This record gives sequence, C-alpha cells and structure tokens, in this order.
Amino acid sequence: MGASSGVSFFNQTETFESLWPTTRRHLDELMDRGKYSHGPKVAELEAALAAWTGARHVVGVNSGTDALVLLLRAAGLQPGDEVIVPTYTFVASATAVVLAGGHPVFADIDPHTYSLDPAGAEAVRTERTRMVMPVHLFHQLADLSSLLGFAARHELTVVEDSAEAFGMRWDGVHAGLHGAGGVLSFFPTKTLGAIGDAGAVLTDDPALAEAVSAMRHHGRTGPTVDDFPTINRATELLGTNSKMDDIQAAVLLAKLGRADQDIARRAELAARYTERLAGTPGLTLPAVVPRTAATNPVWYVYLIESDHRDELAAHLARHGVQTETYYPTPLHLQPCFAELGHRRGEFPHAEAACERALALPLYPDLADHDLDLVSDLVRGFQHGKHR
Ligand SMILES: *Cc1c(COP(=O)(O)O)cnc(C)c1O
Repeated sequence: MGASSGVSFFNQTETFESLWPTTRRHLDELMDRGKYSHGPKVAELEAALAAWTGARHVVGVNSGTDALVLLLRAAGLQPGDEVIVPTYTFVASATAVVLAGGHPVFADIDPHTYSLDPAGAEAVRTERTRMVMPVHLFHQLADLSSLLGFAARHELTVVEDSAEAFGMRWDGVHAGLHGAGGVLSFFPTKTLGAIGDAGAVLTDDPALAEAVSAMRHHGRTGPTVDDFPTINRATELLGTNSKMDDIQAAVLLAKLGRADQDIARRAELAARYTERLAGTPGLTLPAVVPRTAATNPVWYVYLIESDHRDELAAHLARHGVQTETYYPTPLHLQPCFAELGHRRGEFPHAEAACERALALPLYPDLADHDLDLVSDLVRGFQHGKHR
C-alpha cells in the first residue's frame, strides 16, 4: 500500500495471497468431505497448535471470549465466586467472568507492563476470591512469577487471559499453561489471525480439556469429530454451541505454518519503530521488562503513550494513518459495570493508560516505507507540541 492511499491499522491481504495454495488444499479437503460441522480440520488444527505451543490439550471454540467463559466454568467457578481481573484490558476479560456466573473484582495495573499489578491484586482480595486472571497484553507476559506466588499463598486458581499472547513464553512454557489453563483468540488482527472469529482453550489438564470439549458441543462427551449418530447420546453437562468453524480451522492451519516468520517480521517492525521514535519529546515507547525467568516478547501490538494522545490520533487520521486506542475506558468505569459503584481515581495507572495509549499499525504485511511515514508523522507532531 502506497503512502498516498494511507496506512491501514491492519491488513493481511498479501499474507492470504501467498498462503492461498496451502489454504486451498485444506479447504478442498474440507469441501470434499461433504459434512461441514465439527469435522476433522478442527481436530487437525488442535493437534498442530498443541505441538506448536507445547500444550497437552488444545480445544478449538468459536471465539476467544467463549474460550474464557468455558475455561472459567471448566476450572470450577461457582456462582458468586470472585475473580480478580485487571481493569485495563479488553472488556471480554471481565464480561466472561459474569457470563460464567462469577463476579469480576477489578485491580490496577503495573504501568510498565500494563498488566495486573500483584500488589493491586493483593489489595482487592477477599474471602470470596477464588480465581485470579492475569491478562497478557500487547507484547509481553504479566509478572507471572509474582502472580503465581500470590495465587499459591491464597489457594486461588490461575486462569490466564492469553488471548493476545500467542507465541509468548515464560521460562520456555507458553502463555496459558502456567495455571489451570488459558485461551487464544484468532480474531483477524491477532498474531495468529483467522478470517473471522475463532478461539481456543489451552491446558495441560485432561479433565478440564474434556469439560470444555463437551461444553462447546451442547455438553456432548465422546468422539470429538462428528462421524457417528448423536441422537441417543445423553447430555450430562450444560453446554452451548461454541464449535470452531471448520473453514477458520483450515485457514489457521495454513497460517500456523508461517507463524515463526510472521513473529520475526513483527519484531523487525517493532525494532524499526523504536529506532525511529527514540528520543521523541512527550512520547513513551514500549519497553520489554526484564524478568527473573526467560521470557520472549511477541509484538502483537506496538503501543506508545503520548501527552497529547487524542490530538496525535486525529493528526495521523488526517494523514490517512489509522490507529487504535487500546483501551479507551478502564473496565471499572464501563457502563456495563456501573452497578459495581466504582469512581474515577480508584485505579490511577489504568486510567492514565486509557488517556495516553495509542496503538500504531503493526502487522507482517506493513511495508517499511509505510512504517517510516507513520514514524515521521508521530515525531513531527510531538516536536511541534514541545517547541
Ligand atoms: C481479543 C481478546 C479477547 C477476546 O477474543 P475474541 O476472539 O475477540 O472473542 C479477550 N481478551 C483479550 C485480552 C483480547 O485481546
């Protein structure tokens, strides 16, 4: 895409063009089978994802959000149980808790990682707290070593919202596998993105995997591929229809083959932004926080902070550059959680991030010259503000 036509926030048309022969082979197999729901493509993807992530079990579902709801239920959340959730995250982290029958209890974030602050989690824990949900945002994992310690001290179940964390590992172990389980979202903009909605639960616990597998398919236990009549099967578990679409599984199988290359390209682009934007006045660039155990960043989002965020976004838009605000409103101030009675000022780090953070275009198909154009516009704007 040339500079004159602007820079999209996200685009994967070139990726799909180059992957079309592989995608087409998977789609042909799917079409030729003549049976189009809960077929073997999903099972094939689950096995490939298990191999890639190192998870003992991967269960494909129809979105990252459903993956969270089913994971919380399978991990034993009981009606009224409290789950500690950071207030700076995508709204689904907390709505999933409500949909699973629990109560989200919000806590502030660490301003350097944007993820749940262990001290903040400690501050909101009560006798009814049963679970804690670290959310891994943008390019790095939450402070798992402190959060796992916190959970162990209070016998809390750890459920990871690792929807953004495809490819991120802590001490060699993939995101989502540090507690009871985690999730992946394959929403198109995610690091491993489909061409529609899809998600998965990751876990090393066979009983949890079996429960999620049954719940995604109306509570049916037994074979994971529908090759048998199901008419007389008993329903023991209250389930839903959250099966992964076979077409998305076919697309994701093709894309998974390029995941390492895509992650490397994302890292290259992030490094280029950092090089071009370093030293810009009024701007905070994303940092990789050092950890006690080896972690690897995966650049899903390149998030900057500006002291004039809204004006900067408008300036970029006028020049045809699309950006996103992750996240515009902290969850404790979202209208859907108004009944929890929170006020502005309660979680200052999350509130500051919501006012200052801006995500710049970052995806494997982004051309270097487009990234350079975005960087020049950001620098020019900030310098103008700090003359
Ligand atoms: C994308 C995302 C989700 C939801 O995933 P969907 O597949 O869009 O339902 C949940 N939590 C976080 C942190 C996300 O980024």
